[in-house]
Amino acid sequence: MTEHNIPIIILSDEDDDEGDFLRTHNDSSVLIVEIERNEADVSKHIEELDEDLAITYSQTATVLPHARYDCTLAFCRAEQDVSGPLQDNAKHCDQCFCYICDKLASMCELWTIPGICHCNAHKHSVYWKALRDKSLMGFLHELNFTFDPLDMDSDLRCAETSLQKFAGSLAMKYATFLLGFETPNHSASCRCTCHHNINSNTQSQTIGCKGCYKHHFKMLEYDYTVVSQHIKMFLNEAKKENPKACVVMLLGAIKLFVNHTTPGNIHAANTVSETMSMLLWRFMTKVWTLLVGLDFSGSFIKQLESFYQKLPLPSNCTLPKSLSVLPWDDPLLSAVMKGQNITGERQGKGRRHQVLCEPLVVIQARVCKLQQQNKYRELARYLKVVKSINNPTLQRMKDLVPLYLCKDGDYSGAVCHMLSLLPGATCLASCLTPQQFRAYLRILTSGHAPDVAQELDAGNGHMIIPDPLLSTKWTPIEGSNSFKMMEALKFALRVLDCNNIVFADSETWVYLLSVVSSSFTTPDGVPVGAFYAEPDVTYQTVTRDAASAILEELTTTSRIHIPKTFESGYPDQARLLLATQALVLRIFHSQLKPILSVIMSFKFNRWALRWFFYSLLVRQDVLHYLLCCLLEELSDEQYQLLQRKWSETEHSLVAYFLCMYFWENSVILDLNTYPTNSLLATWNESHNPWQLSLKLYLECNVAKLTPEKRKILHLIQQQGK
Ligand SMILES: [Zn+2]
Ligand SMILES: [Zn+2]
Ligand SMILES: [Zn+2]
Ligand SMILES: [Zn+2]
Repeated sequence: MTEHNIPIIILSDEDDDEGDFLRTHNDSSVLIVEIERNEADVSKHIEELDEDLAITYSQTATVLPHARYDCTLAFCRAEQDVSGPLQDNAKHCDQCFCYICDKLASMCELWTIPGICHCNAHKHSVYWKALRDKSLMGFLHELNFTFDPLDMDSDLRCAETSLQKFAGSLAMKYATFLLGFETPNHSASCRCTCHHNINSNTQSQTIGCKGCYKHHFKMLEYDYTVVSQHIKMFLNEAKKENPKACVVMLLGAIKLFVNHTTPGNIHAANTVSETMSMLLWRFMTKVWTLLVGLDFSGSFIKQLESFYQKLPLPSNCTLPKSLSVLPWDDPLLSAVMKGQNITGERQGKGRRHQVLCEPLVVIQARVCKLQQQNKYRELARYLKVVKSINNPTLQRMKDLVPLYLCKDGDYSGAVCHMLSLLPGATCLASCLTPQQFRAYLRILTSGHAPDVAQELDAGNGHMIIPDPLLSTKWTPIEGSNSFKMMEALKFALRVLDCNNIVFADSETWVYLLSVVSSSFTTPDGVPVGAFYAEPDVTYQTVTRDAASAILEELTTTSRIHIPKTFESGYPDQARLLLATQALVLRIFHSQLKPILSVIMSFKFNRWALRWFFYSLLVRQDVLHYLLCCLLEELSDEQYQLLQRKWSETEHSLVAYFLCMYFWENSVILDLNTYPTNSLLATWNESHNPWQLSLKLYLECNVAKLTPEKRKILHLIQQQGK
């Protein structure tokens, strides 16, 4: 509390005449005076206050500064006599201070003024004591704060000064607002027929009949914006001060504007009421943030609470009824944070059942505080169990628990939390959007996570937080061991199993395939593809059956179990093939569009694309449909643009995939039906490099082709000429 430049003048403990051993600090005549002074050891002296000893410290005076009634000059005491100086009370020495004004007696302008007469003041009078408290507390006293005048430190003084200034400026703005202003559209000329009877038009506008009376009546409007802007400015000003000063400034300011009303119509009243509610939330959110963020003394909070209780808040106000918040060392709260209590409930002494339940705004303040401290583990534990009035905002905060666990490096915990059943038999994984799902997949495979720290600022009691999972700023997770790629894939497959929207999303499949066949992810989040050697043919066949069995078990039991033998020898390839088989099942389920980018994700592992084709072969209808989609996308304008950016690799990859329709004899292509006829009709290999590439592939393997397909190649060759 003690800032530099608060020197202390002091003294007087010769109270023995009253036998007053139980004196409280209130009785002391300690005066705190703002005098510039060089200050090395003031703090030392302040400590001595605690022992209720006189402080003897002076740089310049041989006689210590003292209140007038403590002077060696005779002083006459009376409970309350302001008629004029009693006896010699008007006299004073060089070091006499006015008990009320806190300045040298010679500087007091009210020293001997009849009716006021500060020279008679002394601490044993109820009247003078009250007057002194009021004067020390200044405007804070007027606002009905109940601080002990002795606790007036530089923070409270700062709050006092700002509030007094604000009260004045706010009153001016409010007075202007109350005057209202005329609405311009009502001054337009009146079209009532009554005016046509009078010849002079200019005169007529001021007169009207009963019918058009309203039109000539001046309408006043009221715009609260200027006032609310002024209040917001004060909020920003307060935020720059020390926390203690800020809290007092905000609460005091509320008292100054909470009574504002409007003389206008209901519409205007509603506007003011809405603005008021918004302002109250913004002010109080900051107050709670400070109360949660800092350890204020219990007595200080008690005084704030008593002030808050007396605030005439509007009846429709939705702010919590009490200001006080659980201290961080509350037994239940700290047990939850430490992970010793995972229910958020406990049986207290005397069968008292305690539940960790806090107002939403307090929860938000705690979340912010813990984020700033990078205490993600504690944050996750807290959010898992804390209760509040049911609110979508709280649910959204709770939905981020897995993200916080990831930021703590606890990937397994995050995955487990997302997949575990919540009340209502759903799990978080089933509610993820495709973007959120891809973000988690990126976290798990890259060891990076989006930044989450944010400033708490409430709009109307609901913090508007952009989804941190969609943030573009990602940073490495400290001290994290990266998650095994197979574990990430298992997680992905389980989400795809329970989340229809993610399952349907083509972009998600492309991302999954890219991730499982990548060696690493760039800091920008781009998976860098890896070439994997093609496993032997037997392995490929065995793996198709094994992958099908794994996925079959997943769809029927929601459990995923990967036998050890599955990965043996070819761990990377096994992973890619498992994802590919899941993609096959996805395509069997329903149309997947766009398909072109899915094909492209096999860019580095062409053998896997062939494996993909042969997995699809059991459903000729699907293969045929896929061919139609692919050719349509290839001729679509939107993808034509994309193709211009393709290198030879991409063109060749598409050609390779199409080639398999020719090479596989069980697939029938009829040159007279769609889509083969259409492909032939629009053939333009100079414009589409993939067509040229396809022709070359076919020419190299003519021997493999059926007579029907050779005919198609022949037609293609003719087209090219
Ligand atoms: Zn004196
Ligand atoms: Zn005075
Ligand atoms: Zn008229
Ligand atoms: Zn009229």
